[in-house]
Amino acid sequence: MSKGKSVFRCTECGADQPKWGGRCDSCGAWNSLVEEPVGKKAGRLEGWKETAAVPVQLSNLPTAGRDRWRTGLAEFDFVLGGGIVPGSVTLVGGEPGIGKSTLLMQCAARLESQGISTLYVSGEESPDQLRLRADRLEEDAGSIRVLGETRLESILHHATQLKSSVVLLDSVQTTYTEELEGAPGNVGQVRECAARLMRFAKESGPAVLLVGHVTKGGGIAGHRRHRPVLRRRDDARPPHPARRQEPLRLGR
Ligand SMILES: [Zn+2]
Repeated sequence: MSKGKSVFRCTECGADQPKWGGRCDSCGAWNSLVEEPVGKKAGRLEGWKETAAVPVQLSNLPTAGRDRWRTGLAEFDFVLGGGIVPGSVTLVGGEPGIGKSTLLMQCAARLESQGISTLYVSGEESPDQLRLRADRLEEDAGSIRVLGETRLESILHHATQLKSSVVLLDSVQTTYTEELEGAPGNVGQVRECAARLMRFAKESGPAVLLVGHVTKGGGIAGHRRHRPVLRRRDDARPPHPARRQEPLRLGR
């Protein structure tokens, strides 16, 4: 443990304030500041680290876009701009109970039927409960690998071991990294877990579908005002011209 250092972090915009106040200086939200520890666990490497990535000249890369994995769920594929892009992270947001978990499991079942390996990780439900959910689907979900886990390090370990092509994670709010202090779901944890999943997807190549619950105020873990904690950061852009005006695509 570090020496109990903490900041007051806005749950709406993610801004840090040194002192508690009734109102966030950055976004003006009331009663949104919560105390969060900022200490990082010891043992983390500091400074520059050599990575496997090397610079390449653009003209040496193939021009054709990478294949997308179509789920066959027409509206879902449409929202994704034609399918799931390898190496991308897609945030699947919505109110609790709206059917995000079922949608993800259907998606996984359909990918498996095409021979695309999936890992369905849930911090919300046990494997037994997932089995019950799967039994209610029209799709055959039998070949999906499920994992009841909330620790990010363990999730990434299993996804790597299994060489899963698509990792479905339900939800970002129940996931935590042991590198940070603080409970799952706090702004720091959500931000760090999302960032590490991004790195994992970019560096290792699987696609990640990430469930994020929408709060009463309509935000996804702070995704609302000018400094969102989680932004949609995948490459699954819709084709022109819809791309122009819509930073977010909504499935209904
Ligand atoms: Zn704020």
